Amino acid sequence: MVLASKSKIAIIGGGPAGCICAYFLKQNGIYPTVFEKNSPLKSLLPTGGGRCNLAHFEFDIKELAQNYPRGEKFLYSVFFKFSTADTLEFFEKIGVKTYTQDDMRVFPISDSAEDVRRCMLGAISDVKTQNEKVISLNTCNGGFDIKTEKGSYFFEKVVLAIGGHSAFEIIKNIGHTIIEPRPALTALKTVEDFSALAGVSLKSVKAIFNKQNLTGDILFTHKGITGPLVYKVSSVMAREDFPYNITFDFVGDIDLQGVLNNNSHKSIKNILSDFIPKSFAKYILSKINVDEDLKASQVNGKLRDEILEYLRAYKIEVTAPVKDGEVVTSGGVNLDEVNAKTMESKIIKNLYFCGEVLDIDGFCGGFNLQNCWSTGYIAANGIINSL
Ligand SMILES: Cc1cc2nc3c(=O)[nH]c(=O)nc-3n(C[C@H](O)[C@H](O)[C@H](O)COP(=O)(O)OP(=O)(O)OC[C@H]3O[C@@H](n4cnc5c(N)ncnc54)[C@H](O)[C@@H]3O)c2cc1C
Repeated sequence: MVLASKSKIAIIGGGPAGCICAYFLKQNGIYPTVFEKNSPLKSLLPTGGGRCNLAHFEFDIKELAQNYPRGEKFLYSVFFKFSTADTLEFFEKIGVKTYTQDDMRVFPISDSAEDVRRCMLGAISDVKTQNEKVISLNTCNGGFDIKTEKGSYFFEKVVLAIGGHSAFEIIKNIGHTIIEPRPALTALKTVEDFSALAGVSLKSVKAIFNKQNLTGDILFTHKGITGPLVYKVSSVMAREDFPYNITFDFVGDIDLQGVLNNNSHKSIKNILSDFIPKSFAKYILSKINVDEDLKASQVNGKLRDEILEYLRAYKIEVTAPVKDGEVVTSGGVNLDEVNAKTMESKIIKNLYFCGEVLDIDGFCGGFNLQNCWSTGYIAANGIINSL
């Protein structure tokens, strides 16, 4: 049964990318139909721990794009048309006032993702949402046949905004290449059992891997390691095979000998506690079979170097991401097959993509939602200019 639809344009996926695309179409008098299998913008609710980190306060397009391990070059021209300033203007317009944290992350003043969702849904309340799961998409009669559990629909243009956690079969079947999805921004499992240290965190740690280094905070868990630094590492390494090794520098350039000299009666455990949490100091000392109560005066040069080696070049073997813990997916629609100026497929005319369904993923900090706002806008603009 083919159901009639007045709308010529369908958006499949009512997440952040699909909804902002609907908004900008509607602003231009074009009313799409949004197919959403769940509740629209439900995926926004857990963002930023329920506070919704909706952007990053970075106005230099190049700097902004550098926060995307996949998609950096593609995003230059995207951000040229719609970037942080446009995002903030959009939210202001729909009634979401924002503020910026010291770390440049932008949040709604209400600190509520629910509030952001409410305002966005309010702004597209006159756009039709079809609460149906799309099962297949095929070209037909110069347009598209969308099959859902309830029936078939004909549309002239389709925007695919189904996110990164979806079955990509719909897209593969229509002839696009999918870069294999892999979790990014995850906690990591390790060979070493850190459960004795679970809950212990270290600040400004340096991770050295693949000829590069990143700095941030790390937290030990029952399964391995997590925290902002680990999320970044997992993102950069998302396309690498497991297992891999990361070297951590927990203390940087410290004058351990100087401290030992000035505190000859202090125990080595208490000396190290000036640089790292005491529980971690004890852990390291037990690994090298050193009595934690050994006096500083008894630490010879060889032992000092051994301790420093552990503190400054600690190798951790990573075996896997923590299951279902990812914030974003690396992989998705191959960017070589999408026009960055319009988000239109280079393979199938009148088919558009936006959001995480594309092979684009960024670090934590508002970059992934920025991808949705920017590519969602470009897709809408691409459609408007094609009419
Ligand atoms: C816990 C968590 C916290 C996060 N926090 C942040 C943050 O603070 N800042 C940030 O920038 N990013 C954050 N992200 C990432 C961000 O949420 C995603 O990048 C973003 O939601 C992607 O939006 P999207 O519209 O592309 O896809 P999605 O949000 O996945 O939306 C896709 C929509 O399509 C629907 N859909 C899928 N398949 C079908 C189908 N066949 N038929 C009909 N409908 C379908 C889905 O139900 C969904 O509603 C976070 C992610 C998680 C998991």
